[in-house]
Amino acid sequence: MSTVSMAANQAKQDEFNPFKSMAKGFDTAADHLGLDDGLREVLRLPERELKVSLPVMMDNGSTRVFEGYRVQHNFLRGPCKGGIRFDPHVNIDEVRALAAWMTWKCSVVNIPFGGGKGGVICDPRTMSQGELERLTRRYTAAIMDILGPDRDVPAPDMNTGEQTMAWIMDTYSMHVRRTTTAIVTGKPLNIGGSRGRREATGRGVMISANEALKMIGMRPEDTRVVVQGSGNVGGIGALLLHREGYKIVSLSDMYGTVYNDAGLDVPAVLAHLNESGRLEGYDECEHLPNAGQLELDCDLLVPAATENQITSENADRIKARLIVEGANGPCTAIASEILTDRGVVIVPDILANAGGVTVSYFEWVQDRMGYFWTEEIVNSRLEQIMVEAFQEVAETARKYDVPMRTAAYILAIDRVASVYKLRGVFA
Ligand code: GLU
Repeated sequence: MSTVSMAANQAKQDEFNPFKSMAKGFDTAADHLGLDDGLREVLRLPERELKVSLPVMMDNGSTRVFEGYRVQHNFLRGPCKGGIRFDPHVNIDEVRALAAWMTWKCSVVNIPFGGGKGGVICDPRTMSQGELERLTRRYTAAIMDILGPDRDVPAPDMNTGEQTMAWIMDTYSMHVRRTTTAIVTGKPLNIGGSRGRREATGRGVMISANEALKMIGMRPEDTRVVVQGSGNVGGIGALLLHREGYKIVSLSDMYGTVYNDAGLDVPAVLAHLNESGRLEGYDECEHLPNAGQLELDCDLLVPAATENQITSENADRIKARLIVEGANGPCTAIASEILTDRGVVIVPDILANAGGVTVSYFEWVQDRMGYFWTEEIVNSRLEQIMVEAFQEVAETARKYDVPMRTAAYILAIDRVASVYKLRGVFA
């Protein structure tokens, strides 16, 4: 391979490495804040990384060993907080980046947590419930020395949900000999879950979209929306946006895209998805391949699937003037620059999808109080926190004359750095 193509290859790899993307955003913000080198290194690097091997008895009697991680990026502002994902693409760089994003996310919305993330390399679609339960319990047992309601509190992420959290809570509780609901959030309601948690990330996306629209002077009824995804973030986000009067023209799942120029009947699409497990077969729309969905004509694009979806390759073809990042890291750092230069406003992940962790915080508070709130209280407190965070990020963007992503990092890093300065270095 020539030196030129090797360099191009390296640039491509760097673009798709989420930890490098995170570090780029971090460094730009750190430059604006004038952070010294030592402090940068302290805040950029994860505090602790645990890698575990998990033997699991499969249904056919064989034993398979899975690899799992838990990364604690930073616990200066409080216990680490962040989800656990089960996915074949999990890797340490991804978990590291996601853990760091959790630190900045909790700081942007000003809740008293640091950031962590976990992942297990597995393909849940090919595993039975029994296999998933044994894997979850073994993973919990393997990482529980670093968990605890005051140390590190996991939550759902890709391919994990309420049932997974119930198994984690039970496994932890069995080991410590008492029911400890605050060990994990995103639990079912009757074992210490919070009302409104399931919808919280989608609700946060909706609140962010509403605030962004006000900022750029648009109205929901004039806004055509493309949502990539249709799960807990994309599906619920689309439903709530639809109720606000936005016109949702496209949704997708991993098998395909649905499109209706006149606007989809989102409750009907989701009912079909719920029944059949796929968008395929829904009648009132066109069916398109997923490639190209992000480039459909729309005003607002909500990437709510996974990382690295908007890249240097397709950024030029994106038609939306507003992007609200439902997923973590859906735009690469290079794509963000291209879009920003083109005048596209991006509400960054660490703000736009912070609704989930915010209600996780409420769940943790309620578990520790043993006193549970109504859905109205949860939703109104969520709205108050999200709107305030949005205003603060927008204000920081104006003050420093930077895009919202850099502003969100500036706000988040400044908060963590000020705690570091007050606490000092333990020696
Ligand atoms: N996995 C979600 C996120 O990336 C939620 C984390 C939490 O609630 O702790 O924000």
